[in-house]
Amino acid sequence: MHRILVVEDTPAFAEALERTLALEGHHVLLATRAQEALARAAHEPPDLVVLDLGLPDRDGFHVLRELRGRGNECPVLILSARSLESDKVEGFRLGADDYVTKPFGALELLARISALLRRAQRSAAATAVSLTSRPAGAGSLRPLADDELRERFGLTDRQITVAWQIAEGCTNAEIASRLGLSFYTVRNHTEQLMGKLGVSNRSAVARVLHAPV
Ligand code: CA
Repeated sequence: MHRILVVEDTPAFAEALERTLALEGHHVLLATRAQEALARAAHEPPDLVVLDLGLPDRDGFHVLRELRGRGNECPVLILSARSLESDKVEGFRLGADDYVTKPFGALELLARISALLRRAQRSAAATAVSLTSRPAGAGSLRPLADDELRERFGLTDRQITVAWQIAEGCTNAEIASRLGLSFYTVRNHTEQLMGKLGVSNRSAVARVLHAPV
């Protein structure tokens, strides 16, 4: 499960996006104004933002600029009716990761979102791995043993297996296929183990599974 912030002021688009993303197992936060989007992103950091450009108060570029200015590096996909090359260039210049024009195909949008989430998780996992390979004494980390994960967090054996796969950057669908479980079972394990680990997004899982040496 990923937390996706949808910033969209047209109710029909917002509802369609919410329904489509929820069916994929994502937790959707909705914002219809730029200020609301920034407030939500600050309080409930999303794993990905789907960002409309034409908003009632400030435009989507303002939201993107503010997010990046605050150091928020989560993937941002701009979803806009504006199809001018200059808008796309401006979006990417400000730090967008993808740009889709309306009207859009739901399947293509979902595929692009999955690709962005996968890339973000892999990069978070790579960061965790590079932290663990730093020389001892320089804040290096070691992976926690299964016993420690059981004792510290009360994880079950299955949750430990799923947690390490999340730390590797796998999606729920990939974990389900690797472990021969249903998508919904993996989603339940993911929700429960993230609760036990006290993390609100998947990219934070790898960090919690390691301890300073
Ligand atoms: Ca709009």
